[in-house]
Amino acid sequence: MNIYLIIILTILLVDYVLDFIVDHLNIKNIDPNLPPEFAGYYDAAKYRRSQEYLKENTNFGLFTNTFFTVITILFVLLGGFNLVDLVARHFRQSEIITGLIFAAIMIFGSQVLSLPFSVYGTFVIEEKYGFNRTTVKTFILDILKSWLLTALIGGAAFALVIWFFARSGAWAWVYCWLALTVFELFITFIAPVVIMPLFNKFIPLPEGELRSAIEDYARKQGFKMKGIFTMDGSRRSSKSNAFFTGFGRFRRIVLFDTLIEKHMIVELVTVLAHEIGHYKKKHIFKQILLSLTISAIMLFILSRFINNPGLFQAFRMQEISIYASLFFFGFLFSPLNLFFSILGNQLSRRYEYEADAYAVSTAGQPEAMITALKKLTVDNLGNLTPHPLNVFLHYTHPPVLERIKAIRKLSAKP
Ligand SMILES: [Zn+2]
Repeated sequence: MNIYLIIILTILLVDYVLDFIVDHLNIKNIDPNLPPEFAGYYDAAKYRRSQEYLKENTNFGLFTNTFFTVITILFVLLGGFNLVDLVARHFRQSEIITGLIFAAIMIFGSQVLSLPFSVYGTFVIEEKYGFNRTTVKTFILDILKSWLLTALIGGAAFALVIWFFARSGAWAWVYCWLALTVFELFITFIAPVVIMPLFNKFIPLPEGELRSAIEDYARKQGFKMKGIFTMDGSRRSSKSNAFFTGFGRFRRIVLFDTLIEKHMIVELVTVLAHEIGHYKKKHIFKQILLSLTISAIMLFILSRFINNPGLFQAFRMQEISIYASLFFFGFLFSPLNLFFSILGNQLSRRYEYEADAYAVSTAGQPEAMITALKKLTVDNLGNLTPHPLNVFLHYTHPPVLERIKAIRKLSAKP
């Protein structure tokens, strides 16, 4: 048996088993007793409901994962990639166009397969727990828009990589990295004004009590108000959130309308202070640096595997190509990818503590901040007791009880 095939099947299976174990531990970690910190926020019935929500999502995730792992393994073993390649080559186009056709069939195929799962998640599970506000029309438009964006942005990046690897020899990965860096920075820069408005409406925070409270705070911190927006999150879900995005003149802090509905002004100011904390501490910039470093490493390793005959044999391919190399490399790279994602999450959790600390030291309302965190968690039926391994692997934010503990510690300091 081909060594690459053995490696790839092992990666797929280990990944599957790891997910299974983490899910199992996470469910076992459910505690029927409400942590005292949340007394008065979760009542017994709602707390039970949050645990049912967690169980239902976990089981559904497991089912989805099983389905896609089986399909992927069958597709690899039965020579599915070769079949798609034959179809793409049938059009007798240049390597770039053939590659784009190949990628389009692969990605469109997997999108269509995941469609029923996404329908079930939105219209059955989210609906059952009272979160869903997505209409069928919004749902369909969302899918069409995201397909179009994938075709444009993903297609351009994919063509760029093929082009460089086809003609630049040993240093192709460096040129490729430089080009992708410019491309990624450009997309990140324009995303808040070109891409995100395709999905939601963003309105500068309107005049009123909230705006004046925030203006007061922002003025003290030397933060320009023009970057603060509200977003119609209620279009899709009753869940609430806030985030910071972009850089340069298009950076923005976004508060969901659902967040504003459910929180008091003093709480919203602390949420905003947290987001300004991300801005002041340059978290987005640092995260972009990390992602550029990872893509350099990835492209370098990729350059060692382009057109590797053994790899093509593993996938039962008749012909070798750069574009198929990119897909096959994705399988080999996935353990490293997991490693980088753990690293990224670790960093992100640290940034959350930093932003919290910034908010406490500048807005000085630790209790309001804690209340805001509790309300957010309860409104989103958040899990209070995630298993540490799950946090380590997947959490971009620290578990809420740990955040509250850290805020208390900060405010206790003289
Ligand atoms: Zn944050």
